Amino acid sequence: KGSLAVVGTGIQAPGQITLETKDYLAKADKVFYLVPDPFASRYIRDINPDAEDLYHFYVPGQPRKVTYENMVDTILAEVRKNKRVCAAFYGHPGVFAYPTHKSVYLARKEGYRAVMLSGVSSEDCMISDLGLDPSIGCHSYEATSFLVRPVPIFPSCMLILWQIGVIGDLCFTPKEAETSPAMEILTERLLQFYPENQEVIVYEASFSPVWGPRADAMPLKDLPRAVVSGISTLVIPPVASESIDQAMIDRLGINREWMG
Ligand code: SAH
Repeated sequence: KGSLAVVGTGIQAPGQITLETKDYLAKADKVFYLVPDPFASRYIRDINPDAEDLYHFYVPGQPRKVTYENMVDTILAEVRKNKRVCAAFYGHPGVFAYPTHKSVYLARKEGYRAVMLSGVSSEDCMISDLGLDPSIGCHSYEATSFLVRPVPIFPSCMLILWQIGVIGDLCFTPKEAETSPAMEILTERLLQFYPENQEVIVYEASFSPVWGPRADAMPLKDLPRAVVSGISTLVIPPVASESIDQAMIDRLGINREWMG
């Protein structure tokens, strides 16, 4: 009977690949992978010779949604041939990823056993590299969707904006790191919530333990000139904390001296 395991390879392979993920990769009849760096793809091919790269599904000018559906069809076709299929995606396979969730959903709907394992996301690396604990409160949005669905922002929470390198681009458009006119629009929006000198960070976790992450801090007003790529994430650290609701402190019976 066919089965599906959707796994994550972390950002730094093989160091961030879990033992559980390694086991699924090694024992699969068929592996598919989508990873942005040569270290991860090399590791996967070494561990399972029957590994196929999904990258060729990206066609310039084709809506990413079509690309993702094609990936899902390809993954499911092997499950339906009653193979043990392992689909590996970089980072955490369930974080800002459509084909992974859709494949698990469809496989289960058709009666196959399907699991998604956890992986080390770029967000996890960001927490370590920038020393920012999301317990303070955290907004996390896809950049284009943040612009087209107006949502309020509380500067007392940290803000993570994903996919700042492809704002407004719903197709696959291969490009190197560059400045993008859309960053001007994003900056304009952020200035509704933050002062122009607010520190913002363009962050890129490193693929290798040999070199460090990119963490370019700049005042918000300089963001339109920032160079961004497909792996850039924007992080805005929390500003001042919200004032404390004293009545709630009393209601909960909290000793004020023990408050952090
Ligand atoms: N599943 C992946 C995210 C895929 S969506 C994960 O768990 O990390 C792609 C977006 O993730 C990028 O546009 C960027 O915002 C972020 N991202 C991917 N690689 C990154 C890296 N090395 N450093 C920082 N952000 C990254």
